Amino acid sequence: MNKEVDINELLKELSLSEKIGQLQQLASQFYIKDSEGELTGPLKDLGISEEKIWVSGSVLGVKDAEEARRIQDKYLDKSSTKIPLLFMADIIHGYRTIFPIPLAIGCTWNLDNAVLCGQVSAKEAALSGVHVTFSPMVDLVRDPRWGRVMESTGEDTYLNSVFGKAFVEGYQGDLSSNYNIASCVKHFAAYGAVEAGREYNTVDLSDRQLKEYYLPSYKASIDEGAKMVMTSFNTIHGVPASGSKYLMQDILRDNFQFDGVVISDWGAVGELQVHGVAADDEEVAEKAISAGVDVEMMTSCYINNLENLVKEGRVQEELIDEAVLRILQLKKDLGLFSDPYRGMDGDKAKQMFMCNEHKEAVRKVARESIVLLKNDNVLPLSKDKKIAVIGPKGDSTDLLGGWSWQGRKEKITTLKENLINEIGNNLISYAKGCDVNGHDESGFEEAVNVAKEADVVILALGESSEMSGEGGSRAYIGLPGVQERLAEEILRLNKPTVVLLFSGRPLEITNLSKKAPAIIEAWFPGTEGGSAITEVLYGDFNPSGRLTTSFPYATGQIPVYYNSYNTGRPKTANTAETRYVSQFIDIPNEPLYPFGYGLSYTQFQYKDFTLSSDKMTKDDKITASVTVKNIGDRKGTETVQFYIRDLVGSTVRPVKELKGFKRIELEPQEESKVEFVITEEMLRYYNIDCELVSEPGDFHAMVGCNSADTYTKKFTLL
Ligand code: BGC
Repeated sequence: MNKEVDINELLKELSLSEKIGQLQQLASQFYIKDSEGELTGPLKDLGISEEKIWVSGSVLGVKDAEEARRIQDKYLDKSSTKIPLLFMADIIHGYRTIFPIPLAIGCTWNLDNAVLCGQVSAKEAALSGVHVTFSPMVDLVRDPRWGRVMESTGEDTYLNSVFGKAFVEGYQGDLSSNYNIASCVKHFAAYGAVEAGREYNTVDLSDRQLKEYYLPSYKASIDEGAKMVMTSFNTIHGVPASGSKYLMQDILRDNFQFDGVVISDWGAVGELQVHGVAADDEEVAEKAISAGVDVEMMTSCYINNLENLVKEGRVQEELIDEAVLRILQLKKDLGLFSDPYRGMDGDKAKQMFMCNEHKEAVRKVARESIVLLKNDNVLPLSKDKKIAVIGPKGDSTDLLGGWSWQGRKEKITTLKENLINEIGNNLISYAKGCDVNGHDESGFEEAVNVAKEADVVILALGESSEMSGEGGSRAYIGLPGVQERLAEEILRLNKPTVVLLFSGRPLEITNLSKKAPAIIEAWFPGTEGGSAITEVLYGDFNPSGRLTTSFPYATGQIPVYYNSYNTGRPKTANTAETRYVSQFIDIPNEPLYPFGYGLSYTQFQYKDFTLSSDKMTKDDKITASVTVKNIGDRKGTETVQFYIRDLVGSTVRPVKELKGFKRIELEPQEESKVEFVITEEMLRYYNIDCELVSEPGDFHAMVGCNSADTYTKKFTLL
């Protein structure tokens, strides 16, 4: 029941400064400062006059429904336009009931989980007064030193695209429901390619790399209907993304036909000056609006300068009008003109937070996201064994990962507490051993003594939440502090030991992987992480997660990703003895654990891989089929992965590229035929002229359990 506002008419009624106000986004503190004290830090330096607060168009972050209502109320009272405020926030992997981090959700290879995460998050957030989430982040990441790898679904373009779509579908639904929120895809563009993985650093990519690997996932989310796009902090092709006409006009508007709202990242408009492409705030405003940023987040170059710039003829008023219309359209799509308090319902929100249904949803996704990396007959555990839980993550509530400050308000049950619930107090002992970070080894002795008394040791190690996410770049991605030393001391006891890793990135664990008999990657598993891990440890759930990011053999090997190009001197069995091949002289070329990898408590056999034909025309299709059998004695889920290689192209083609996957659940001894349809569209890539086309010639179709373990058949595109 959207009140029929004619936004074109509304626009005509607005003064220039009121229009410019719509382009400003301010943190919620600006609107409540009189009741809750003075603005401090960067907020204070923003230089926004009192009256401009009451024409600005959107709010960043809000504590709860009551606060949102209070701000909206006060704003509608004070503002001259009476156009409702739009509330935006970072709802990345849950609001109060927290899902595993997006990287972990990717490792489920189950798109329904992203939809579910979107729906549950949207519901809790909408009831708490949020209209737009700054999610999904679909930046391709090939460098896990970059902390924001935890916000992505990994190193593959195709996976990021399908997951991005699924998140958008989950958040937005059809938006007419008050339980849905609008989605803002970010960070446009190629933020994941910052040099050396150092946060906010330069990006420099060829246009081919940009188009082929980095842009498709943004496009997929836009095609799914994402209402907003956020620009990134980095430069690309020598221009800051938030001032790049090439990105925002040529690609986003002209090529992708995006007609929604473009918002800058936090402060990224103002940073054009720091980057050195604008001399002062005026020039910043002129450049950013001309390049295509509609909403300026948390700097004040537009609101303080655009009016003059229009008067001086340096900025056309139509540009501002177009941006304002897009914002008004979004407000209308969300139904804010009919109900400025859309969704806001604190009481109902409280009933939803951590309700059984939501807890079950996050637990389901957590179970499926856990990746079993190694298992020399240790797992699953039997419930009569005495367990020593050792390590700084064993009794820690830091299970949520970045972007979960709302979730931290809830009670989180630790792994140790969950294990006690499962098998009783008398079978569980615990010693922390050391902190996540720091050099103190004084707890080792107690840890060793506790471990000695147990039948099985669970070594719970990893990062703290702040070590990944924004501003969480690490140059060395091993276990922080003295945790690896603690692990050595414990592993020396030669007990059945399970290393359980909590991290926002793949860690460098090569030494550990040689010594530890079992390793589980649990990522940051969310609110119900402890209970999901317990199910996996005892075999109540058979692990099914598969890596979507390669685990490097050594940090110095980064970037290491499965879909690399061949070199002219690849290392093969025949050339292994030669020095002059593409290799490191001190470590293997291969990652420790490849993309797509993950074990189960059962085993799967692949057989009868066939193609329906070994030739196809551009209008044909080939069906690839393979039979997968569960040859173990437990029910399990396999993710069958389908890759293609273009053997000869007008430019170099990757050694393989993921083109499809299917998750199948099989009872013991059950088998299933899995099919993938090869279409001409799948074979397209950016050719020598940077056009998206397929080229006739030979291809390999590959099927297997991970990117390094595949069966191959050749076919020809005529
Ligand atoms: C981050 C964005 C986020 C924004 C708003 C920025 O610092 O880079 O991902 O959406 O803040 O909180």
